[in-house]
Amino acid sequence: MNYKVPRGTQDILPSESWKWQRVESIMRDVCQLYRYEEIRTPIFEQTELFTRAVGDTTDIVQKEMYTFEDRGGRSMTLRPEGTAPVVRSFVENKMHGYPDQPVKLFYEGPMFRYERQQAGRYRQFVQFGVEAIGSASPAIDAEVIALALDVYERAGLEELKLVINSLGDTESRTAHREALVAHFEPHIEEFCSDCQSRLAKNPLRILDCKKDHEHPLMASAPELPDYLNEESAAYFREVLAHLDAVGIDYVVDPNLVRGLDYYNHTAFEIMSTSDGFGAITTLCGGGRYNGLTEEIGGPPAPGIGFAMSIERLLLALEAEGKEWTDKPALDAYVVTLGEEAEAKGFALVQQLRRAGVTADTDFLHRKMKGQMKSADRKQASYVIIIGEDEVAKGVVQLKNMETGEQHEMTNDDAIAHIAQMKKEG
Ligand code: ATP
Ligand code: MG
Repeated sequence: MNYKVPRGTQDILPSESWKWQRVESIMRDVCQLYRYEEIRTPIFEQTELFTRAVGDTTDIVQKEMYTFEDRGGRSMTLRPEGTAPVVRSFVENKMHGYPDQPVKLFYEGPMFRYERQQAGRYRQFVQFGVEAIGSASPAIDAEVIALALDVYERAGLEELKLVINSLGDTESRTAHREALVAHFEPHIEEFCSDCQSRLAKNPLRILDCKKDHEHPLMASAPELPDYLNEESAAYFREVLAHLDAVGIDYVVDPNLVRGLDYYNHTAFEIMSTSDGFGAITTLCGGGRYNGLTEEIGGPPAPGIGFAMSIERLLLALEAEGKEWTDKPALDAYVVTLGEEAEAKGFALVQQLRRAGVTADTDFLHRKMKGQMKSADRKQASYVIIIGEDEVAKGVVQLKNMETGEQHEMTNDDAIAHIAQMKKEG
């Protein structure tokens, strides 16, 4: 029997995992700057949470969930997205009662969706997202968008486009919905079966259909902005004004509707405009979800958030030709010859590590040449050599691998030298 990684999943090997760690640390650093704090929710939740919060007409709920019955006969689902669990936790832990509002949270971890595998689309993928719950100020919409863009900018991405729209409040959405039904109903038999069932349940989702997006009625469909009431339009203007104030460019796309049911008012996506990026260009999606806390049994608390996947961020870097190649190197490799030297070397490696120097040594009793090769492969900045002579004299040879210079010195001097050079970068 040959075991393989499940379809749509991947092993992140050491040649790549350091990049994931770097993305994660960028995300954490940016969240710290904006004062968003981490929340960790379970990998699985009651199925009902997602059918309720995400919406049972969405692709996620209809086709993509990993749902199973646990041994107690309860229906559980591996989380397909992060907002519903975070809002569940917000309600359950009565975070609306926290003295400090809005509550600003971030999460990072695996999500699961039974999708058709293609580039940038996995069945297990890692999402980073933020949720700001407890404020209906347009400023926080702009803050959340700025945060997402900062993450991409720090990662080195430049070819980005922010697309934004307003879905309006309930009144606006109802007016738009009626117009949509009137528009599509006479021709609904020309659409896919999903769209046919969406017509009654959530006609807005027809606009987001991946099968029928070429149908002529799509282009002529009633557009949301024309149905925004004054309050919603004013809110949207304020969001845009805040983006303008901090110099964030955007494109208003009246056809942008997000795939999840819970959005209202602001909806946005950040896309890669890089030529090298394939069919999928969306890196990040987000929006406002006033009413979601009530939907899952809590008090009113307006929220906004976004989610982005690390997979697509790394793909975008590649597409722009900006993949990271500067894998953190090894500071020092200790080469030893002979038993006594080996014991000394082992102790030295530990001393180096305690001094904050990344250090490694040979564990295969290789000859000098083999050990030097290993140091090369690990891209060690320094090699410390301890042979029989060095043991006898109580010294080591410190070799700078970049310049080739070699000096004899004491253990302590070698450690101090490397630590100092490392500090100076
Ligand atoms: P798409 O239209 O590409 O299916 P979506 O609307 O389902 O995206 P969201 O639920 O908004 O995506 O998720 C937010 C972000 O998470 C996406 O913009 C994308 O970066 C990422 N993402 C979504 N699904 C996947 C996946 N299967 N594999 C990798 N990343 C994903
Ligand atoms: Mg999707």
